[in-house]
Amino acid sequence: MTQRRETDKPLAVVVGAGPAGLMAAGEMARAGCSVIVAEARPSPARKLLMAGKSGLNLTRAEPFDRFMQAYGEAADWLRPMIAEFGPVAVQAWARALGQELFAGSTGRVFPRVMKASPLLRAWLAELGGLGVTLRTRWRWVGLEGRALRFDTPEGPRTLRPAAAVLALGGASWSRLGSDGAWAPILRARGVKLAPFAPANAGISVDWSGHMARHFGRPIKGVRFRAGPFASRGEAVISQRGLEGGGIYAVCRGVREGHPLLLDLVPDLPEARLVARLSRPRGKASWSSFLRKAVKLDPARMALLMEFTRPLPADPVALAARIKALPIAHAGLRPLDEAISTAGGVARTALDEGLMLTAVPGLFCAGEMLDWEAPTGGYLLTACLATGRWAGRAAAGHALVRG
Ligand SMILES: Cc1cc2nc3c(=O)[nH]c(=O)nc-3n(C[C@H](O)[C@H](O)[C@H](O)COP(=O)(O)OP(=O)(O)OC[C@H]3O[C@@H](n4cnc5c(N)ncnc54)[C@H](O)[C@@H]3O)c2cc1C
Repeated sequence: MTQRRETDKPLAVVVGAGPAGLMAAGEMARAGCSVIVAEARPSPARKLLMAGKSGLNLTRAEPFDRFMQAYGEAADWLRPMIAEFGPVAVQAWARALGQELFAGSTGRVFPRVMKASPLLRAWLAELGGLGVTLRTRWRWVGLEGRALRFDTPEGPRTLRPAAAVLALGGASWSRLGSDGAWAPILRARGVKLAPFAPANAGISVDWSGHMARHFGRPIKGVRFRAGPFASRGEAVISQRGLEGGGIYAVCRGVREGHPLLLDLVPDLPEARLVARLSRPRGKASWSSFLRKAVKLDPARMALLMEFTRPLPADPVALAARIKALPIAHAGLRPLDEAISTAGGVARTALDEGLMLTAVPGLFCAGEMLDWEAPTGGYLLTACLATGRWAGRAAAGHALVRG
């Protein structure tokens, strides 16, 4: 096989050294491009490392069609990308980088070490071996025609690559680098963007003073519902409201204006609940009666009392409340606190290879694209899959034109 000399290779640039950008960089280097990854922060993949603090849920071992349902209406266009690099491929990839994996009871797949740093170290070493150059503290600040302008510690720099992939992340946890500052640059070039909104966010609740002693308590064995979204996941009562996977999964319903309802006893049919609540209460307080009759633990009891005062004496009305407790809240937590961002570059602004039709040669990948999914490994899987897809298409573009 004839090897291209480094100087013959077309230059390809990736902006953003998160999972999507690193994936794109590997694809372009393997295809024969000379690759520079420009990252604004002093070190790469800070959000990936942060995700590792909660175990690093890489993907989810479940049938492909069920997996794709997590992406809602974006599933249609993400399908070919995730078909090529879905849950099975993500696991094989992580194992090839030396990670031993395990799947939890719900199918969530984690590295056995439950953190991201060993995976990231191995990945960066692999990219280094492919000749990928990483430039940190290089902030992309604009376009000049098709050239990319950067602020760097050595002053302004302009790169004119044969193709580039933007993988700039969403607009949450800005201290880790994804600040959404790229949006006005692309909008000014006529790129259609869907407004940013919090996804996988907690909700704000103005608690009464009674709730302070429950802060930090987990809410287990419940079902959250907001419009068409439902979840049996857990949450935590915090000073600011409710947080955790169970709430994140229905956050989109809340964002779209549906009431947030909590079934405190999802495994107990309403008719049986009414029968239990119809037993004579005698002199027992409501809390000891409900603890005995319905087995409500302190966290669920506190929520019932918080949002239903006074409790209806009629068993049918009380059962209805326990099965669909309306959570009075003050909206979602702010975007910067959200685990991920909805909105971003619209699918209609991109061609099949994720190239911006308004800026030929410039591709986009990862969370900056307009899709959303619940936590559970769906986020990282789609970031890796779109990064790989855009990287491949960008390499094709660079090799033809470069
Ligand atoms: C606390 C937390 C826990 C999470 N846990 C999980 C999990 O367990 N499983 C899961 O699937 N997902 C998880 N996620 C979500 C997941 O980490 C993200 O969806 C994913 O990192 C997005 O990848 P990305 O490459 O698109 O963007 P990012 O990882 O955000 O990377 C974008 C990069 O671009 C850089 N950048 C931005 N602007 C510029 C610029 N102008 N110039 C140069 N560089 C720039 C940023 O500094 C950053 O390094 C978690 C997120 C958080 C916050």
